[in-house]
Amino acid sequence: MSAPEPVVVVGAGPVGLSAALAAHALGLRPLLLEARTRTAERPGSRAVFVHRATLDRLDAVRPGLGTEIAARGLVWDTRRTLWAGRQVHLRTYPADPATAPFTSLPQTVVEDLLRRACDEAGVRTLWGDPVREAVPSSEGVRLRTASGAVHGARHVIAADGARSAVREAVGIGLDGSTSATEFVVVDVADGERPARPERVFHYRHPAAGGRHVLLVPFQGGWRVDVQCRPGDDARHLAATAREWLPAVLPQVPGPEVTWSSVYRFQLRVAARFADATGRVLLTGEAAHLLPPFGARGMNSGVGDAVAAARAVRDDAVEAYARERRTAAERNVRAAGAALDHLLAPRPGLRLLQRSAAVAAPLWPRAGRWLDAAPYGPRIRKVRY
Ligand SMILES: Cc1cc2nc3c(=O)[nH]c(=O)nc-3n(C[C@H](O)[C@H](O)[C@H](O)COP(=O)(O)OP(=O)(O)OC[C@H]3O[C@@H](n4cnc5c(N)ncnc54)[C@H](O)[C@@H]3O)c2cc1C
Repeated sequence: MSAPEPVVVVGAGPVGLSAALAAHALGLRPLLLEARTRTAERPGSRAVFVHRATLDRLDAVRPGLGTEIAARGLVWDTRRTLWAGRQVHLRTYPADPATAPFTSLPQTVVEDLLRRACDEAGVRTLWGDPVREAVPSSEGVRLRTASGAVHGARHVIAADGARSAVREAVGIGLDGSTSATEFVVVDVADGERPARPERVFHYRHPAAGGRHVLLVPFQGGWRVDVQCRPGDDARHLAATAREWLPAVLPQVPGPEVTWSSVYRFQLRVAARFADATGRVLLTGEAAHLLPPFGARGMNSGVGDAVAAARAVRDDAVEAYARERRTAAERNVRAAGAALDHLLAPRPGLRLLQRSAAVAAPLWPRAGRWLDAAPYGPRIRKVRY
């Protein structure tokens, strides 16, 4: 084994790529290890919604990167909420891609841009060889990959996703819950003439059998999220999307499905964000699982990545672990409140929602509340 690397990042998903860029920007000369081969495709557009804070963070570690992601994305100037076919909230606002609080584009495009930025920065990356073992000590971490290669590192930033081998190797659990309710997500390509983009949340959509439906446009297509009801066969619903989509997404004629999947709300946070030696830092989905509603997963993962690189440079791992775990717990609380709102498990909340829907035409605040709640009622207080 050669001299230890200052920092090894495990996993070249959006969070690992961001961590490598951030570490490079701080002069740490990171080595990035990835299980997939460089040309392996990742299915699905997954994280479409990128927050301004993420764009700013990426601009700070690689000048121009956040700006380019924003330029490649889509912003919209309208949000609407409907209740059983009747509009209860409409908001329009100026939508300038340069200053909008978000942009919307497939995660695959963001990853391509991050990968290109890493290449241009000269980040050393070894592809196609998963890490199998991580043994930390007070001196550093010894990593062994599937091919038998051994890498020494003073610090390891684990960004190897939900089934993190590094997290398991250092014995840190991921505590939390998974919703019983399933959600179907379907991505649809833009038609020949792209429809006007607007974000629509529809409570009790009549054309979806009274299920809640969220429509989110992104560059090149539309994301359709359907909340299943108890007893629904979510896989069947996903497989038959072509049949129900025209009524739910009438703005895209002859919708072409590009990806569909079924998921449950995962609300899980690692018991600790660093191992006992302070040599292994957990980031992104290796550290927390958050639901798509609210777009907290990748966005908070990029926050972890930048903070982890800084903590390695400043020898401030303990503070990193404390602060990022607190941020993740806040995200879980906001997402949990959103789930509560979507499921409305208590009669009181169901009554409140129905009353808000009735009051909305006369009392705009009620419509605003219905509009904001599915993403977590306290979203403004949450730091990604
Ligand atoms: C339907 C859906 C919609 C979503 N929408 C949003 C959204 O709008 N906004 C948002 O912020 N988030 C969203 N998310 C969440 C987002 O997709 C994830 O949070 C994000 O992909 C996590 O990034 P990551 O880099 O931590 O993990 P991953 O993307 O899972 O990347 C992990 C990487 O590590 C590699 N790896 C795994 N094991 C090893 C190993 N042993 N050795 C080396 N490499 C390894 C993997 O091959 C992979 O490249 C959504 C997710 C879904 C499913």
